[in-house]
Amino acid sequence: MFSDAFVGLACTDCDATLAVDDTDPEAIAGAGPCPDCGAPRVPEYDLDAVDAESVRTGLRAWDRDTVLPFDAETALTAAEGGTPSVDAPRIADELGVGRVEIKDESRNPTGSVLDRGLSVAVTAAAESGADLIACASPGNAGQSMAAYAGQADLRSYSFVPTRSPFSNKAMVNVHGGDMKVVPGRLGDAVESLATELVSDYLDLGAFASPYRHDGLKTVAYELLADRDWDAPDAVILPASTGELVVGVVDGLRECVELGLIDDLPPVYAVQPAGCAPIAASFDVGKGETEPWETPDTIVGELEVADPPGGALALAAIRETDGAALTVADDEALESAVAVASTETVEVGLAGGVAAAGLWALAEDGTLGADDEAVVLNTEAATKAPDVLRSHLMGQGV
Ligand SMILES: [Zn+2]
Repeated sequence: MFSDAFVGLACTDCDATLAVDDTDPEAIAGAGPCPDCGAPRVPEYDLDAVDAESVRTGLRAWDRDTVLPFDAETALTAAEGGTPSVDAPRIADELGVGRVEIKDESRNPTGSVLDRGLSVAVTAAAESGADLIACASPGNAGQSMAAYAGQADLRSYSFVPTRSPFSNKAMVNVHGGDMKVVPGRLGDAVESLATELVSDYLDLGAFASPYRHDGLKTVAYELLADRDWDAPDAVILPASTGELVVGVVDGLRECVELGLIDDLPPVYAVQPAGCAPIAASFDVGKGETEPWETPDTIVGELEVADPPGGALALAAIRETDGAALTVADDEALESAVAVASTETVEVGLAGGVAAAGLWALAEDGTLGADDEAVVLNTEAATKAPDVLRSHLMGQGV
């Protein structure tokens, strides 16, 4: 069940550990936050047990199971990962950047990068013998969780806010999951899950499960493999819960430790200006995030006012000498439209935030003619095409 290199779980705040060797496997598979202090726990690996050659190549995320908690035979999978890095020469020319690639995560089974993490987290839940799994999410995570739960005939309950896109809500049910649509915003859905779901359940929220961000590590391996292990000058991604930032930086760090690249490339985390707790703390040098008082962005998937991985994401960004920045909603929509209309790739709203970050980094001179950037499109444009279309309406189209 567990991979050879997976050592166990470590608390991110106290000294508590849960080792594979001396503990009930079901406890590790079903693990939530630290029982001693409540902080997130994270998987630990003995990379000496990993043959670097084994992770140089791989078509799909689970082809790199030597750096995941479980072996591929255990996995609930629908061929996540293996997404293309699409060259964007027209955008690169326009911005005066040496090279731009779009790592197109919309091509995952449910159209979201989160499939990589939920595949691992739902696998863990099934191995632990859980009866019911649940999470509160802006939409994509709930859809993805329901999709993998179906493979194991595992009951799932997704709590989403009313503003969640119709496509997310519809597909939760199509995959066989239960759903509660909670009036309000994500915080209301989080509160509702905590107080209203009375059955025993395993929480698969970001960092409530130690495995979601861990599954996202495979993005880092793939974007480097796509470049024949030549690290780019910038990795640009949208940030919300912090799980993507933490997972990608964990993966990049492992690649350094395995000798696959020399140094960590700078990671830039981009948030919508209307909900930017990570960027706000980054700007003032803080190590923790403060809850964002009045979240307000058209990019619902990124409207996470109190990110559970905020502190971990801040540390990860600083470790890479990257930065956190904000963009306006209309810049995000404009950038998504610009990429779709010139480079074919259908960039979703959250991916548009990352793309707008690329524009900003080119304009402020951080990126220039000698630089190569990888931008993550984290979700399919078809999850909310109405928002992109209405942006054109505002321009008289
Ligand atoms: Zn602890």
